Amino acid sequence: MLECIVTKFGGSSLANGDQFRKVRSILELEPTRCYLVPSAPGKRFSADEKVTDLLYKCHALVSEGQPFGEEFAKIRERYLSIAAQLHLRVEIGAALDEVEAGIAGGRNRDWCASRGEYLCGLLMADYLGWRFVDAAEGIRFREDGTLDEEKTQELLSALLKDRKPSVVPGFYGARENGEVTTFSRGGSDITGALVARAVQADVYENWTDVSGFLMADPRIVDNPAEISSITYKELRELSHMGASVLHEDAMFPVHRAGIPTNIRNTNKPYHPGTLISKNAPNEILVPTITGIAGHKGYSVINVEKNMMNSEVGFGRKVLQVLEEYDISFEHMPTGIDSMCVVVKSEMLAPHREEVISRLEDMVRDSGSVTVSDQMSIIATVGRGMVHNCGTAARLFKAMSRARINVRMIDQGSSELSIIVGVNDSDFEATIRAIYQEFVA
Ligand code: ASP
Repeated sequence: MLECIVTKFGGSSLANGDQFRKVRSILELEPTRCYLVPSAPGKRFSADEKVTDLLYKCHALVSEGQPFGEEFAKIRERYLSIAAQLHLRVEIGAALDEVEAGIAGGRNRDWCASRGEYLCGLLMADYLGWRFVDAAEGIRFREDGTLDEEKTQELLSALLKDRKPSVVPGFYGARENGEVTTFSRGGSDITGALVARAVQADVYENWTDVSGFLMADPRIVDNPAEISSITYKELRELSHMGASVLHEDAMFPVHRAGIPTNIRNTNKPYHPGTLISKNAPNEILVPTITGIAGHKGYSVINVEKNMMNSEVGFGRKVLQVLEEYDISFEHMPTGIDSMCVVVKSEMLAPHREEVISRLEDMVRDSGSVTVSDQMSIIATVGRGMVHNCGTAARLFKAMSRARINVRMIDQGSSELSIIVGVNDSDFEATIRAIYQEFVA
């Protein structure tokens, strides 16, 4: 029997009064769902605007000395119509006036953006008859704008320890001096994870508009299979390569605390979604792989130098050049007299000439530096591949059948993922070939 579930509802789950009603019936299905973290109202239809985007727009207009009334009227209408649809008594008009005055008075960008969640939290708390706990009281940022995890844990657990059903708005917190600060976009996921850790929840439920993660991008593979369970480590590999449902930083607090995250669909409340946990079931996994994700737009810097392998510190010097230009690298397969560094092309572009000439100076006349662009990186991820013979063979056979040239291979010793580099023009075909081999 679960004792405490923390729920987070995304913007599309709170886009209008009907969505609020769905949220309430989800909570009623399971009384141990006793903490709720809302985002700001999102889009009601594809051409609609998210409240957070409108708030950023208002702030930008004020900073340029322009009137923002027209944009703010759209925000006002969103909240007033939800309140009217649900017959709420909360003084949302007065709260909206305060936000409008704050924006006009030059409050900072984070404060303006955070009001989307703040106002939504007020409405939701009134609708459910729950306590409203301002995230500015419980989530602490340092002076440099980074999250102070320890202090946050201390504050939040003290605020919420009575297990009284509460609404804690997502996306923001405050610095020691009270200045409101936000996470990056999509950051309500992080708030939910922090609340789950603070109350030692049994599960962190993240309610959105999809039924969890898919094994591949549906724009590339037709009707890909759903992932029912996945480990945090696997998900980290997939999200790094672009599988996005959950904010990347939302995984750490719950992963460390051993709390599973369940991605659920507000519009299909009985669908079990994807369960992310530390030790997902590991028996006989069919299919062997958990998911495939990738990205286009990488460059490979290939450095060749005679006798490179005997030169202690050469690799460090190459990476130091990249570090000086603030370029992070993704992968680094090496040979005896050559090493490749894979970087995002957009990171390399502004410093390309300088980086190449610095590296050329290092190899002088005993080597060369070349850069190949338009390369894609594709990660095939799965705990089922660990200690399982033949997965790599199947993957490469599938690629060769599809006549795809493998330009780079990287498999870490964890055996959790196999990473291949291919030409951008082979990106989609590679994902389809791997999916076909293991899943279809
Ligand atoms: N409302 C914020 C955004 O649109 C945060 C969130 O929804 O998680 O990014």
